[in-house]
Amino acid sequence: MKILVPVKRVVDYNVKIRVKPDGTGVELANVKMSMNPFDEISVEEALRLKEAGKAEEVVVVSIGPAKAEETLRTALAMGADRAILIETDDAVEPLAVAKILKGVVDAEAPGLIIVGKQAIDDDSNQTGQMLAALLGSAQATFASKIEIAGDKATVTREVDGGSQTIEVKLPAVVTTDLRLNEPRYASLPNIMKAKKKPLDKKSPADFGVDTTPRLKVLKTEEPGGRKAGVKVGSVEELVSSLKTAGVI
Ligand code: AMP
Repeated sequence: MKILVPVKRVVDYNVKIRVKPDGTGVELANVKMSMNPFDEISVEEALRLKEAGKAEEVVVVSIGPAKAEETLRTALAMGADRAILIETDDAVEPLAVAKILKGVVDAEAPGLIIVGKQAIDDDSNQTGQMLAALLGSAQATFASKIEIAGDKATVTREVDGGSQTIEVKLPAVVTTDLRLNEPRYASLPNIMKAKKKPLDKKSPADFGVDTTPRLKVLKTEEPGGRKAGVKVGSVEELVSSLKTAGVI
């Protein structure tokens, strides 16, 4: 079985986001970019399935600017076998990403597609679900455990107040949640080896997908600053202040 893992290049999760002065978006110039954290989890899971003998090949794919090659090289250094870069400088919305990924799935015929539950830049949480719909395949979202047996996957999902275990028929789309695993770091020798692994370049037009945005961002704002707190002299005073404020 082949596993396809889409990985997105996003602002690193440690970066303090700054909104552009004109409010049209966030500042990306000279900002550290990294692989979306949920996609690192997806790559890790695909590698573990391969190591367990459940898959033969892990293919990673990214839709983004030329620099997304770095993100793909990181996935190759973690252990993925091959990469596909679908190069575009447009900001590609989830529906267009899902349409392009459908084209990749049609060409590659993976048995499993492991997608992050959300990209931490736009927080859309849409791509995996849309891709499953376009493929007409099963989907198991927010996975905290994946087991493969034959042509079925048993997936434990993070749901409100607990977990749910479902069985889906492969090929299927699974989206990854934080508790699924802890991604490995790429070792220096593997970073060197990754430079020589195959990376194919394509464009959205190769898949007949128009990436023109359908949404218009009207405004982007920073969260309001927190007001300074007050010191109280005793527990009694704290309880009384909380009562007065209607908190308890
Ligand atoms: P989203 O629906 O935008 O929150 O993204 C969910 C997941 O879809 C991400 O974790 C990635 O696995 C995948 N994805 C979204 N955008 C891209 C992209 N430009 N390139 C590759 N994968 C993507």
